[in-house]
Order: sequence, then structure tokens, then C-alpha cells
Amino acid sequence: MMFRYPLPSASRREKSPPPDPADLLAWYDLNRRRLPWRAEPGQAPDPYLVWVSEIMLQQTTVKAVGPYFASFLAAFPTVEALAAAPVEEVLRRWAGLGYYARARNLHACARAVTERCGGRFPDTEPGLRELPGIGPYTAAAIAAIAFDRPAAAVDGNVERVVTRLFALEAPLPAAKPAIRALAAGLVPSVRPGDFAQALMDLGATVCTPRAPACALCPWLAPCAARADGTQETFPRKAAKAVRPLRRGAAFWLVRGGAEVLLRRRPAKGLLGGMAEVPGTAWQAGFDLDAPPPATVPLEVRLRRLPGVVRHGFTHFELELAVYAGEVAADTPAPAGAWWQALGGLGQAGLPTVMRKIAAHAGG
Ligand code: SF4
Repeated sequence: MMFRYPLPSASRREKSPPPDPADLLAWYDLNRRRLPWRAEPGQAPDPYLVWVSEIMLQQTTVKAVGPYFASFLAAFPTVEALAAAPVEEVLRRWAGLGYYARARNLHACARAVTERCGGRFPDTEPGLRELPGIGPYTAAAIAAIAFDRPAAAVDGNVERVVTRLFALEAPLPAAKPAIRALAAGLVPSVRPGDFAQALMDLGATVCTPRAPACALCPWLAPCAARADGTQETFPRKAAKAVRPLRRGAAFWLVRGGAEVLLRRRPAKGLLGGMAEVPGTAWQAGFDLDAPPPATVPLEVRLRRLPGVVRHGFTHFELELAVYAGEVAADTPAPAGAWWQALGGLGQAGLPTVMRKIAAHAGG
């Protein structure tokens, strides 16, 4: 259905009232999202649930996080349980969510909270910032949501709402400090935790990237972009740099038709500590059509599988040639690697790019 609204005149815009936090809170009381990590009205929030959800939601949608959150909480119901678990188990439960440094930091943070803070999260932004993996946004979100502190938690949803409300012309990412300042000016002293969640919900459900439902918005009257009819053009964004392309080869080595060779990546760096299919380094100059590279970890005849595996990382695009080979059932694994039953590949905690390789090889 198409809605049409009369646009306010310029003179009316000048007279528009500033956005009133009370209007947003009244809207939130009627329209709040029910989320597994969110306290019901009248309940005290659980800082552990708030923290885990905020880390999982970085770079990931609410819909994608849902099943991971449930399984993670079933495995690690408390910060003490998470701190006591081996980091490999935490990475395995995280596999598929991407940005694996988050999982390693989550584990390190659980240990810090348990060892340094007696199992209780600090209740201020500066205190939270001292913990591993908690940056300015996450500290503000936890301080506001878990401890009702007047902190401005500015995620992508909030950036969109704020740039539209004030018709902020400066493009992202340079506009971030200005957006934070504007957002901080909106935070009320009453119910700041609900206000933070209300702003996130408004961005997620009403002030959406495309076709925002302005008719349902509690801040329709003060919204400068809406007054101009330009709401969908905000936030302004600087032109994106083209991501460079890297290439490499992966070796799908099967033993006795039932197991595949895996190894663990170095603890630091991209996909640090995750299980992987052996392969070459990923480089700009790698030739996918050259003879098989000499870095195969076993004596084996290889055949190149047709096609390539493609994957996008934050800073580069990746293309991989996949080589398959079979070895006898009594072949030992080289140092640092192990044979993983093909039937148990789902439990190996493979990151998404490795799952793509497995699917490409038919594993
Ligand atoms: S009026 Fe429209 S564009 Fe402005 S904040 Fe509300 S939903 Fe977003």
C-alpha cells in the first residue's frame, strides 16, 4: 500500500519541536521487540545476556543471531561457565557467525570478569571499556541496557535514525563523531536503558533503510529529512573503496573415503584459532590455473575440482581453487593436523569459508 503525506513547509520545519525522548519511550512501551536476551518490563536485565547478545549482534542481524544465542547460552549459561570452557569449544559454538576475534575476546572477557571482577560486570562505560573486546559502542550499550546508565549506544540503526532526524549531510564514516554527539544530546535522564533499546527498535522496525514507515514514527513531526521528503537518502555515505582480490588453493584430502584432513589456524590473525582445510596462503598474485602448489601436507595425487570457491571478507574478496586427493586408510596425519570423520564435519566448528570448500568438494 502506498501512503502519501503532505510535506511540511520550510517555515513549519523551522518551527518543528526537537525530538522528545518521552514520545519515543511511549512508542516503545507499546511496540518493543521481544528478544531472548531482553528483560520483560519490570524485570531486571541480566548483564551476561546483554553482553553476549551485544557481541553477537556486531556485524550480524538479530535473525541470524537467534539460534546461535540459544545454543551458546545452553552451553555456557553463566559467565563462570564460559570462563571455564576451553577456547576451542567457544570457537566451535561460534562457527558460522563470522568475525571470530569476537569469540576469542568473549572468552578472554569472561575470564577477566571472573578473575578480576568477582563474576560481576562493571556498571559504567569506563569500567566496561577496560575489558577485552568491549569498545565504545558495546560499553555504552551494556551500560545503558544492563545498568540504566545515560549512555548513547550508536549502532547502524541509530546512525540511520539520527542522520534522518537532523538531515545530517556529512557522509559516513566521517560523520560518526557528529552522530554520536547528536545521539548523546537525545538521551534522557529517565529510563535511559529503555531509551537506548527504543532507538534501536525504531531503526530496526520503522526507520528502515528502505521505505521507512514514517506514518508510524513517534518522531514524525520533528524529523528534518521527512519534512524534506529525503529520508531514504540518509545516511549519506562516502564512496566505497573496491575490495582487493586474493587467491589461493585448498586441499581436500580424504583418508579411506571416510575422513578429511583438517588443521588449526594460528591463534592470531584472520580466522585465528579456527579449524581449516589445509591450503596455501591467500595472495594477490596467486595463479588459480598454475600447476598444483607444492605446499600439500601429504604425498598424494591431486585433481583440480572444476570451478572456484568465492568468499567475501571485510577487507578483501577471496577466490580459491580446490584440489582433491585420496590417501590410504592407515595414513597418519601430519604434525598439527587431524583426520575428521566426514560424518562429523558439522561438529568441527568450521568457519563459513571452510564450509564452502567442503560443500564444493561434496563433503
Ligand atoms: S519520520 Fe521517518 S525518517 Fe524520520 S525518524 Fe521517523 S521513520 Fe525515520
